[in-house]
Amino acid sequence: MAARLRALPAISLSAVLPLLHGRSSFPTTAGKSLSFRRFSSRPVARSSPLVEVSAQARRGFSFQEDDFASTADLCFESPLKIVEYPDPILRATNKRINTFDENLKKLVEEMFDLMYKTDGIGLSAPQVGISVQLMVFNPAGERGEGEQIVLVNPVVYKTSKRTILYNEGCLSFPEIYADVERPASVKVGARDITGGRFKVNLSGLPARVFQHEFDHLQGTLFFDRMTEDVLESIRSDLKALEMKYESRTGLPSPESIDQYERRKEVAGFART
Ligand SMILES: [Zn+2]
Repeated sequence: MAARLRALPAISLSAVLPLLHGRSSFPTTAGKSLSFRRFSSRPVARSSPLVEVSAQARRGFSFQEDDFASTADLCFESPLKIVEYPDPILRATNKRINTFDENLKKLVEEMFDLMYKTDGIGLSAPQVGISVQLMVFNPAGERGEGEQIVLVNPVVYKTSKRTILYNEGCLSFPEIYADVERPASVKVGARDITGGRFKVNLSGLPARVFQHEFDHLQGTLFFDRMTEDVLESIRSDLKALEMKYESRTGLPSPESIDQYERRKEVAGFART
């Protein structure tokens, strides 16, 4: 997700930074406070019903061997580059990760490097051409400030009924910003960089960035969630990106906003 913040809850970095350093709330334009809990890496108890359900599902459906990312899937070339719309990589299936090694750490480090360099606050693996369930973010958007978050194989357990409209940008859509409505808070689970499982409640900007990046891992792009009117307001920008792709690759654009059919709502529930 791109860093530029404007309109809607006009959250300034100075408002976000204390939040990420452990204070519990920050104001929104609605005059209400959004709470934020620090990320913790608490292992999930073996008796957790969620773990049991997951274990049963594993036995019941016996996943294919290619269910997890292979070494080749996680292979990358430095420096990483941002994949822009309409590259089909952004719509590809992203595999879950079960190898937590030095290569993964290096990938994460390079993703953070690229995110800061491109003025981002969140970045997903498919956006650098790696089709795996991995995202990094830091709502502060500056190295050494805020908190660097790494989520591997994230799942959404719960979303709030209350939704918020927010002006989003995306590194895969340079210079395009538009309003997207999303739940105000989410309860999520994931693995950390060492493979440890954790759960966390997110609200405010971290909830917004997480949901944007989580969508990328499902092959969903931010304009899939825009209203018709909002989508209309960026139509020409999307067409310009499609033409840029065609002239760069010599290939027809794999998708076209002029033939766009709204994608099915993403369930938002997946397996860790
Ligand atoms: Zn994005």
